[in-house]
Amino acid sequence: MTALDLKSANSAAPAEKRPLFGLSRPETADAIGEALSLDVRKARMRANQLWRWAFHYGVTDFDAMTDIGKDMRADLARLFSLERPRVIDRQVSIDGTRKYLIELAPGAEVECVFIPDVGRAGALCVSSQIGCTLNCAFCHTGTQKLVRNLTAAEIVGQVMAVKDDIGEWPSGGEDRKLSNVVFMGMGEPLYNLDHVARAIEVISDGDGVSISRRRITVSTSGVAPEIPRLGELTNAMLAISLHATNDALRNELVPINRKYPIAALLDACRNYPSLSNVRKTTFEYVMLKGVNDSDAEARELVRLLKDIPAKINLIPFNPWPGAPYECASWDRIEAFAEIVNRAGYASPIRTPRGRDILAACGQLKSESVKARASERHKARIEATP
Ligand code: SAH
Ligand code: SF4
Repeated sequence: MTALDLKSANSAAPAEKRPLFGLSRPETADAIGEALSLDVRKARMRANQLWRWAFHYGVTDFDAMTDIGKDMRADLARLFSLERPRVIDRQVSIDGTRKYLIELAPGAEVECVFIPDVGRAGALCVSSQIGCTLNCAFCHTGTQKLVRNLTAAEIVGQVMAVKDDIGEWPSGGEDRKLSNVVFMGMGEPLYNLDHVARAIEVISDGDGVSISRRRITVSTSGVAPEIPRLGELTNAMLAISLHATNDALRNELVPINRKYPIAALLDACRNYPSLSNVRKTTFEYVMLKGVNDSDAEARELVRLLKDIPAKINLIPFNPWPGAPYECASWDRIEAFAEIVNRAGYASPIRTPRGRDILAACGQLKSESVKARASERHKARIEATP
């Protein structure tokens, strides 16, 4: 939006407010400077005040910003919106996991999941797209037809809505419940990298939501050519959904492997900026009964990753209605984990959380689409002779 657009906010036909959640702090200052004809220093000061109220204290009303004069508050209220996306459903699991169904716009819904007691305090799993184009064979999200990228404001909006719900204001306190953010919800974040990067810039700002980049993890199914840019733009932690140790099987489970096979993917991982023994890449491996859960594959997994500073995360497969796989047996998972363990990877099994409310990895799919899918299913059954 140009300065002219913003100034026209004062005229009879008001310009649309910009969602503050989609702007970095410098962009906020630029927008204020242009719209209100303030010099750089003053604009920056106003942006800092606004940001502190919005992202540190979580206020939703400009009138609560008591260190800003009344007229300036009114100007800011004309320029920016602090509106959260609407939480249309919230389910709480017996293990404390909370799954939110969030409406971004009429008919556009995503899910995000807050998991207490993981990471330093608790992790929020956010979505980066509605649905996903990639169709991994074991993933519920991939079966959802409707797909669009989320904007940065919509990604940050998930964090704000959940912070409201768990009462996490002001941000950054010693007793914080939300310390980590993982891009492991719906969608392939590297197909929406610009918005994901901007959202990370907003939520990692130390005077705002203040989630350190070391505690932000982006999980990809393997969009190898975007991995260097992810590192450059965000310096976030990298997670790779590997799930197979040979190309034939990975082609089947994670079809993007046909485009970027395992060797190319691991090369990109080796070159990920600031990869080190304290900033390891996580390799996710979903345990599918009789498909990828043999001892030989565990040994191959260790061999493949031997020259990469890595963590291995074995994910028990989370079932969903109609899924074509079963979770590997607990004995099998333990035997597999034992081999991985002996190779020096500590506690590789990820405890499933929120399974009872379909909030665990790969179970997300927005309700509206589920409803439509079940209607289609019903129609098919009724149509069968
Ligand atoms: N699209 C990204 C991020 C979202 S998926 C990606 O694929 O990495 C987050 C993680 O959940 C991925 O590792 C994914 O492979 C895994 N996952 C998907 N479906 C699952 C299921 N049914 N059970 C367990 N893990 C699953
Ligand atoms: Fe998409 Fe990730 Fe699910 Fe694959 S596992 S379909 S990339 S969300």
